[in-house]
Amino acid sequence: MANPDLVLILNCGSSSLKFAALDPGSGKEFLCGQANALGGAAAKLIWRYRAQNGAQKLSRDDDDTTVIRALVDRFDGQWSELKNRLIAIGHRVVHGGELFASSVLIDEEVLSAIQSCCELAPLHNPVALQGIQAALAAFPQLPQVAVFDTAFHQSMPDYAYLYALPYRLYQEHHIRRYGMHGSSHRYISERSAQLLGRPTPEVNIISAHLGNGASIAAIKGGYSVDTSMGLTPLEGLVMGTRCGDLDPGLLLYLGRTLNYSLGEIEQLLNRESGLIGLSGLSNDCRALEQAAEDGHTGARLALEVFCYRLAKYIAAYTIPLHRVTALVFTGGIGENSAWVRDRTTAWLNGLAYQLDPALNEKIRFGAEGRISRQNTPEVLVIPTREDWVIAKDTAQLARGGD
Ligand code: ADP
Repeated sequence: MANPDLVLILNCGSSSLKFAALDPGSGKEFLCGQANALGGAAAKLIWRYRAQNGAQKLSRDDDDTTVIRALVDRFDGQWSELKNRLIAIGHRVVHGGELFASSVLIDEEVLSAIQSCCELAPLHNPVALQGIQAALAAFPQLPQVAVFDTAFHQSMPDYAYLYALPYRLYQEHHIRRYGMHGSSHRYISERSAQLLGRPTPEVNIISAHLGNGASIAAIKGGYSVDTSMGLTPLEGLVMGTRCGDLDPGLLLYLGRTLNYSLGEIEQLLNRESGLIGLSGLSNDCRALEQAAEDGHTGARLALEVFCYRLAKYIAAYTIPLHRVTALVFTGGIGENSAWVRDRTTAWLNGLAYQLDPALNEKIRFGAEGRISRQNTPEVLVIPTREDWVIAKDTAQLARGGD
């Protein structure tokens, strides 16, 4: 179709806002961009439209609300050809608690339900709500949909989502594991089944989403049965700047013995740990690979801890799946780092995993396919498409499906 209907996707964060206009049918992107460094002197809106890059300086006072207004101005001007094709807006919302197991059309009730999940994601949900309110005001004629990062993992059984804490903390305060990156893991599950030529209910996937944030999910017949992120996105794998799994006693030690305040602990675990903390150099996997090659000990160590932890999770997820149809790498690191894929699967030789070195080198930079040797457990690389999942859900709900 030459001029297909489009969905505008908004992903509002505290210091950035990402947007894209997508054809939900083909997944083709007609516009994409982001507002970066919001609240700072370097705040800027950048976009790509019709194969050309554009940029607009923002002021220190600009926030998600004013950026959305700036987008409306652009849709009235330079991007007007797209405006009449927009059929709906899809919002990425991090936390839907136990209230949302799928995407929903936004109304007053949904807004207050998202509000009630703010306690569970104080850094993310309030900003998403602000973005939704601004978009409702800016595009009153368009249906708007919330797509939750946690929704896909609502199928986890209680023995996987409960912490071994007093049960009343779950009952009274909803303290449990929720998991994130749901749209990505869902896409990987469906796309793996397509690539393997089998129906989704027949395939059991271990999906490793390795970006700046990283999580892994065990997906049985299309349903998430376990995942590594928990109440918050801090649990699980080693990430760019987040620590992943820790001894909870360590937090007491930091507070009591080393006199860290809660704010300092939050900063340490979220921003100063993971790859950057261990390497003392960078949170960027590519930079660390280069540095490790040049002999930087911290970079090598950080990558080793990253791969070892990941391999342990992969081995553990054979338990809920019984029979694993494929291990899939995705996210910036999973899609591109042949080194991480090689080191991780090397730990899994005991489970018969073996990569084909030529395929592992080849399937990178947007390519998709198998990287394991013939007759060994299937390992795939699939570039993730969270945006397309959001666009498809949004279009379906906007058109009256459920
Ligand atoms: P985000 O979670 O911010 O969406 P991405 O999925 O874009 O993150 O992943 C970013 C990570 O991917 C960074 O650590 C980056 O170094 C890594 N990455 C991107 N390209 C390569 C590459 N060619 N080799 C190794 N790592 C890469």
